[in-house]
Amino acid sequence: MPLLPDSQAHAPEWSRRDWHMVIDGAEVGADTHRDVLDPGTGAVIASVPEAAIAEADLAVAAARRSFDTGAWRDLPADERARALWRMADLLDARADEIALVEALNQGSPHRGVRQGFVPEAARIFRYYAGWADKVSGRALQLQRRGMELHAYTLKQPVGVVALITPWNSPLVMAAWKVAPALAAGCSCVVKPAELTPLSTLLLAEIAREAGVPDGVLNVVTGDGAVVGAHLAQHPLVDKVAFTGSTSVGKSIVRAATGNLKKVSLELGGKSPVLVLDDADVEAAVAGASAAIFSNAGQVCTAGSRLLVHEDVYDEVVAGVARRAESLKVGHSFDPESEMGPLISAGQRDTVMGYIESGVTQGASVLAGGRSGGPGFFVEPTVLGDARPEMRAVREEIFGPVVAAMRFSTLEEAVAKANDTPYGLAASVWTRDVGKAHRVAARLRVGRVGVNVHGLPDVTMPTGGFKESGWGRELGPEGLDLFLETTSVYTNLG
Ligand code: NAD
Repeated sequence: MPLLPDSQAHAPEWSRRDWHMVIDGAEVGADTHRDVLDPGTGAVIASVPEAAIAEADLAVAAARRSFDTGAWRDLPADERARALWRMADLLDARADEIALVEALNQGSPHRGVRQGFVPEAARIFRYYAGWADKVSGRALQLQRRGMELHAYTLKQPVGVVALITPWNSPLVMAAWKVAPALAAGCSCVVKPAELTPLSTLLLAEIAREAGVPDGVLNVVTGDGAVVGAHLAQHPLVDKVAFTGSTSVGKSIVRAATGNLKKVSLELGGKSPVLVLDDADVEAAVAGASAAIFSNAGQVCTAGSRLLVHEDVYDEVVAGVARRAESLKVGHSFDPESEMGPLISAGQRDTVMGYIESGVTQGASVLAGGRSGGPGFFVEPTVLGDARPEMRAVREEIFGPVVAAMRFSTLEEAVAKANDTPYGLAASVWTRDVGKAHRVAARLRVGRVGVNVHGLPDVTMPTGGFKESGWGRELGPEGLDLFLETTSVYTNLG
């Protein structure tokens, strides 16, 4: 387990600054505050306002006003595009600062945050800047008896949207929603996760600097069960776009029934990695390891179930276990670190509970299995001889724990892969291109990698089957989530 540096020594001045929410273009505080921690040490790095219902109402009112007066949606689309593009430029210009904040707050190795997450957020804003002036419906010439009609569909922004985000990869998760919502012309209230609000507060600053009008992008920080739940039931909110756990996703659906607001959901997963007997074993081992240990397994599409053909099971699983043992686990600012801590003491304990339950239910620990500190670290862990009924196989762990199982036929592999309430992602490792695509078509998931795992790209839709969600974010589909369709009929006489 790592010996960690003092995070305060790494935390520059900004981490001790006053953090504010942004409501109607103004910096807003609250009566109470919440400490934000460096999960790599457990030290307090910031204190953010804890919104009450009153602040959430102010944010909704500001968003409503800005939407109803057309301050943003009625701007020429190319002006909205330019504001989004400026947000991307500002993310790039402030990338060093943002990466420090994000790495320290989330615990992921700083290098990956600086080179991966922050440029990715900028890319998402550029991609949707490109869409802002390409929103279009379709036109039809209709012949009805005795009437000729010109008909077309009109796309309109859905209105005021509440965007509720999780604690993993918080900047990118916010960008997935904010960029298409703004491109569509919506006004937003963003509620980041309690544990990782900092980069979203910076994003609100950036929006102001980029010229997004007051009231169009409001950020409130606060408790999910209070502020998040209030937004989900709010009669002046037209839509909720939520990323988080399946259980909270279900409560959002229930809360949304009051005004039947639109709901899109990006939820949990229990994604399988299928290694067929003809796979390139070395590539499969590297891919399966990255699939579960990236971001310490705190990834919705983490490859947490490793399904391996019996002929290559020992070799593949031993390879992943070796990789787990050799991974350098450390603080986000340790340049050697390949895997950081979990986000909180609670999450560490949850993950350890799953490891223990796996052992109790008969799995063997082939690598890792221990926690350590300071900070909230869990070793990269491989559970061998797992069985489908085990909790560690059925439930989302959201930590660096993979459960390995064998299969002997392709049918069995597909059946085991689909034997879950989730349906977010999967990967299949094989040299046989025909088999790869046959398997891809039978997996009940929103994203399949062939000889690669993960890889969301902003140009391609992502989302879940079954209890992994409703709708698809990213790509043109991600824009559609923030649009309504009106059919217009004109009688040509
Ligand atoms: P979470 O469900 O606990 O919280 C997510 C957000 O919802 C937070 O902002 C939280 O404050 C808020 N919230 C909590 N209770 C609420 C309520 N009753 N009403 C409204 N909002 C409420 O999830 P988390 O632990 O922050 O994130 C991890 C989860 O997110 C995992 O299940 C992971 O799989 C999922 N996730 C999914 C995707 C995806 O694209 N499918 C991406 C990232 C994370």
